Amino acid sequence: MKRTVRMFAWLLCLCMVFPMLVSCAKTEEVKEFTAEELQSEEYAEFVNGYDPENDTDLDAERASAEDETLAGTSVQYSNSKLVSCPMPSPHKSSRNGQKIDTITIHMMGGQLTVETLGRLYSSASSQTSSNYGIDKDGRIGMYVDEKDRSWSSSNKANDMRAVTIEVASDPFAPYAVSDKAYAALIRLVTDVCQRNGIKKLVWSTDKNERIQHKNGANMTIHSDFANKACPGEYLLDRMDDIAAEVNKNLGAE
Ligand SMILES: [Zn+2]
Repeated sequence: MKRTVRMFAWLLCLCMVFPMLVSCAKTEEVKEFTAEELQSEEYAEFVNGYDPENDTDLDAERASAEDETLAGTSVQYSNSKLVSCPMPSPHKSSRNGQKIDTITIHMMGGQLTVETLGRLYSSASSQTSSNYGIDKDGRIGMYVDEKDRSWSSSNKANDMRAVTIEVASDPFAPYAVSDKAYAALIRLVTDVCQRNGIKKLVWSTDKNERIQHKNGANMTIHSDFANKACPGEYLLDRMDDIAAEVNKNLGAE
């Protein structure tokens, strides 16, 4: 079974490395992960791609994490009241008082429940987490308090300033999410923006604008930082719509 998962990861990797093959991946049926495989390290890598090479100071950070305090910071952190499933993950670091000004939406690459995602994030071997997760029924899980940095986007600097949200999706391209999950995502992102003083959500189709936060851009995606399918075409095509819906809720222009 492990071999199948490895083969799947290899296939996915091939399709990412050689853009010419991407169109073939879209039409090919991809094997769905079994319940057992969803608990595996391979799946953890697939879903979140925590990449130690992009975060070499993590060990030192872990060692000092307990000594760190938020003394001197004026940032007030809070968590969403929309959460119905809190399952704290040990895979986190301090934000060191950094202000939250970015939203990073991920797809799970599977229709995981918020509980299954929580179990994955609790596993010692997974080395991955997100602040929030949303399942296909629109239920919201919380795994890393907003005051802390999740290990989510293969990029420390991004996760220091971002609230990261994993959305349950089909395990195959275009990685569609359910209407209920989508609606919950709009509600959650609105709530995160309201509590953190993000007055307007801005998506840019230009990667450089996104990662440099130019022209107000404050939404990033996993594939900005790592060679990943995340967030998948379905969500990628809707980033503009997500920003528009959230901005309507925020009363932003
Ligand atoms: Zn991702």
